[in-house]
Amino acid sequence: MPENMLGNIFVHSFIFAAFMSDSLYNNEVAFELQPKKIDEARQGETLTLERPQHVISNGKKFYIESYGCQMNFSDSEVVASILAGAGFDSTSDFYEADLILINTCAIRDNAEQRIRHRLQHLNAVKKKKKASLVGVLGCMAERLKDKFLEEEKIVDIVCGPDAYRALPSMVEEAETGQKAVNVLLSREETYAEINPVRLNSNGVSAFISIMRGCDNMCAFCVVPFTRGRERSRNWKSIVNEAKELYERGYREVTLLGQNVNSYRFSEDEKLVGKKLVDAKYDESVVNFAKLLELVAQVAPDLRIRYSTSHPKDMTDDVLHVMAKYPNICKYIHLPVQSGSSRVLDAMNRTYDRSWYLNRIAAIRNILPDAAISTDIIAGFCSETEEEHQETLSLMDEVKYEMAYMFFYSERPGTVAAKKFKDDIPEDVKKRRLQEIVDMQMKHSLIRNQQDVGKTYEVLAEGVSHRSSEHLFGRNTQNKVVIFPKGNIQIGTYVQVKVTECTAATLKGEVVS
Ligand code: SAM
Ligand code: SF4
Repeated sequence: MPENMLGNIFVHSFIFAAFMSDSLYNNEVAFELQPKKIDEARQGETLTLERPQHVISNGKKFYIESYGCQMNFSDSEVVASILAGAGFDSTSDFYEADLILINTCAIRDNAEQRIRHRLQHLNAVKKKKKASLVGVLGCMAERLKDKFLEEEKIVDIVCGPDAYRALPSMVEEAETGQKAVNVLLSREETYAEINPVRLNSNGVSAFISIMRGCDNMCAFCVVPFTRGRERSRNWKSIVNEAKELYERGYREVTLLGQNVNSYRFSEDEKLVGKKLVDAKYDESVVNFAKLLELVAQVAPDLRIRYSTSHPKDMTDDVLHVMAKYPNICKYIHLPVQSGSSRVLDAMNRTYDRSWYLNRIAAIRNILPDAAISTDIIAGFCSETEEEHQETLSLMDEVKYEMAYMFFYSERPGTVAAKKFKDDIPEDVKKRRLQEIVDMQMKHSLIRNQQDVGKTYEVLAEGVSHRSSEHLFGRNTQNKVVIFPKGNIQIGTYVQVKVTECTAATLKGEVVS
């Protein structure tokens, strides 16, 4: 593997892909089999939409491309909606654009390097078309603030994740030749009433952002600094969005947030900030278990998924609601990060190995058929060989269906960067990561083999990229299943009997 290999590797029961520099999968199947969290095939995706008819065009076009996690893609939909409301039209050709926006990710160094390469490329566009403004949005904008303007001369606008409503006025400011920066983080902003556009979707599954920010302060993570304090969106606007999507033919929604299980909303004005966190049992408070139930009641054939859960907040009441509603998918992403209690403590994850395994036991007990996936970081500061072995032994005990695996990348400003030395040599980090990946591959295959012979309800999501005679969809466990197309319509449910598998995919035949 080249020296500059990116640190991110994930293995799905259906995918195995190592990402190198900017190249995407060379495995054709991987495209359709993407798990939905950090969708590598969507990196750099552009978004176009029609301006609402009642809004008069301002004669300008914007182009937006997105990087990073699903939250960023969801945010780009909000940005597109705000700009369309201000009279902008959109384009998928940046040579045509008056405003070029890049929604950025800062989670690991390689994510930032990718954006910097992209900006170099856009420099050429700007030379050709001097009037174009270039704006950076999202986490990297928030992390670098006006330093971005010094480091990347091409940039005219720097806009943090809580300032998107100000974008139209920032564009006006930049048009006068000033550089425009707004990186104020908010304690309230949830963009609750902004109806995101969904034009690049498959018309079957959509994401609904239910909260923003994160209060957890994991030592390695930049998110609390780039996305600010945790705040939950009004549950009524979430339920309405789910209803609207259902009426438009969508059959699956994924509730999104950095830590959805700590969702908490109350309309009682007395319960703001910390008081809301403490008011666990106040009747006016809608917690995540209640929210899940409210969204599940929108329609029995609307599937509900959610991501991501922090183990400390994965309570039994959430598991019981999942068990009660067949339309809440039996799939849980529960990032462990490390199998060593000492490393978990250094990471400030606020749980230890036995607490985590207790949560896994609760899932197995309440939801025996649930699939479980995780995130793992190899080579965190001071991790010993024995502690790395503890991660492997935890994996062996849980046998995850899927994992997103990374080697540790120090992020400036984080607790770990301030307190600890990034002292595991890169070759050791990569070797440990490879051992983790190899083990996950084994487990993904075992888990898939257990599915052969079983029949699953699958939501048909699209045509297989390998064969136009086949469709693909996912079962409740989030496993992608390939099956013959026949007369099946995309967006409908089918019963598929699994007949064969690899570590990367399930294949089957339609039985009804
Ligand atoms: N809020 C989510 C959670 O706690 O599961 C995670 C969000 S983060 C975007 C996704 C994953 O990136 C984390 O779970 C962690 O495994 C990984 N990650 C975050 N910071 C990292 C770093 N500095 N180096 C390597 N991986 C990192
Ligand atoms: Fe980062 Fe931890 Fe918050 Fe996840 S829970 S976003 S890893 S600080």
